[in-house]
Amino acid sequence: MNGIHLHNRVAVVTGASRGLGRAIALKLAGAGADVALLARDVQRLSSVAEEIRQRGRRALPLPCDVSSESDVAAAAGEIRKAFGVVHILVNSAGINIRKPITDFTLEEWHRVLDTNLTGVFLMCRALIPLMRGQGYGRILNLTSIMSHVALPGRTAYAASKTGLLGFIRALALELAPEGITVNGISPGPVATEMNRPLLENPELHREFTARIPMARWGTEEEIAALALYLCSDEAGWITGTDIRIDGGWTAQ
Ligand code: NAP
Repeated sequence: MNGIHLHNRVAVVTGASRGLGRAIALKLAGAGADVALLARDVQRLSSVAEEIRQRGRRALPLPCDVSSESDVAAAAGEIRKAFGVVHILVNSAGINIRKPITDFTLEEWHRVLDTNLTGVFLMCRALIPLMRGQGYGRILNLTSIMSHVALPGRTAYAASKTGLLGFIRALALELAPEGITVNGISPGPVATEMNRPLLENPELHREFTARIPMARWGTEEEIAALALYLCSDEAGWITGTDIRIDGGWTAQ
């Protein structure tokens, strides 16, 4: 995989202010891509943009709530102005609210679905017009082991991430004739801010690690390496599927 290069490619990464989105943005830039970075925290986005510029690539930090139609339209306009085209879209923005269903407010349910599922729809709808006509395109969505198995307290999150699987398959069929692939990456636990409640609770942390046959959490670097491969020319015949990267969690 050392040979993968993305020179002259323009990538858009949501959730790029931290965690997996940031790691993937840096990985794509390291392979030569220019990157538009989307999330709500402008300060963090600017610091990721600086890291990318230090790698000699262009970076465009854009404050954007992916669940807002107007924010996404405005971001797409800025991307069109700055780059003209898009080759790669990575939808990493996501949230998790963990609680029993009877404790969920409707607002919380909507917030999870609006970010994790509707946000992906809005981003794809806005950016596919910029991807068309090049015979190449890559759309990657961060799904989850919760797209395949479940845990109590994850109704909204699992519904949103399982919904993405259907979205991925249908969109892959729509875009296959144009050379644009659409796939999911389903990670097991990685130590990011999203998992702070697990990381800060030694008992929960131990319990999670015990569920992983390889007996350790994944790393941002491992997820980013898979993302880079799926964005490469070499991965051009992989579409409409979802790749689990979970130390064996879902093999059980
Ligand atoms: P994280 O560290 O909490 O990062 C989440 C990112 O999403 C942040 O950049 C956040 O930025 C952004 N975001 C959240 N809501 C947003 C919104 N409405 N509009 C725009 N950006 C928004 O989580 P992570 O671990 O990197 O997770 C990334 C993706 O991987 C998520 O989709 C998650 O479900 C999935 N995933 C993670 C794991 C894991 O173990 N870490 C496992 C399976 C799947 P702002 O707050 O600045 O907006």
